[in-house]
Amino acid sequence: MTEITHHISEELLTAYAAGSLGQAFSVAVAAHVSLCLECRARLAAVEHVGGAVLDGLATQSVGGDLKAAVMAALDMPAPAEEATAPRRSGIYPGAVMAALKGRPPKWRALGAGIRQCIISEGPDGSLRLLYIPPGQAVPDHGHGGLEMTLVLQGSFHDETGQFGVGDIEIAAEELEHTPIAGQGLACICLAATDAPLRFRSWLPRLLQPVFRI
Ligand code: ZN
Ligand code: ZN
Repeated sequence: MTEITHHISEELLTAYAAGSLGQAFSVAVAAHVSLCLECRARLAAVEHVGGAVLDGLATQSVGGDLKAAVMAALDMPAPAEEATAPRRSGIYPGAVMAALKGRPPKWRALGAGIRQCIISEGPDGSLRLLYIPPGQAVPDHGHGGLEMTLVLQGSFHDETGQFGVGDIEIAAEELEHTPIAGQGLACICLAATDAPLRFRSWLPRLLQPVFRI
């Protein structure tokens, strides 16, 4: 596997650890983390700090009962469905297979050889797979919010750099770019969009001073 050079930002990793990312972004982050040792280690560190913050908060300001309840909740085993979640299949990480409900992607032609498979779509964002033939450009586009693009096969490049398998591009709302698939294998990537990032839960807000986000 080629070396991964584009990673998840600290801010997004923290929001993911706190469970405050939408479904589409969560799948993209989980898929990247499954391919990237570095982000797996960073995520473990963020989760460790999050636990310590909760622990300190519980000690200072709440009675023993609530603290016990919080700690018990943190120690609870993963829900049963996680244990039976689909495994990686070919180029598709387990998180993507789970989003596909274990079935292979259904591709629709978009023209110019580009194909897309919409996994989920709604007011809170969308999750889809894109298939871009070698050397083909994806039409210029801006973003309604944040966009995450994770390469699963082949590569692409745009105004901001070069992205290979496992690399994730996090494109801000301001970015207007024209991704072009590299030579060799067709580029297959997972693209997630979401409503602008808002910290909906209280844990990331607690962590903001820790990470200066
Ligand atoms: Zn990474
Ligand atoms: Zn884009």
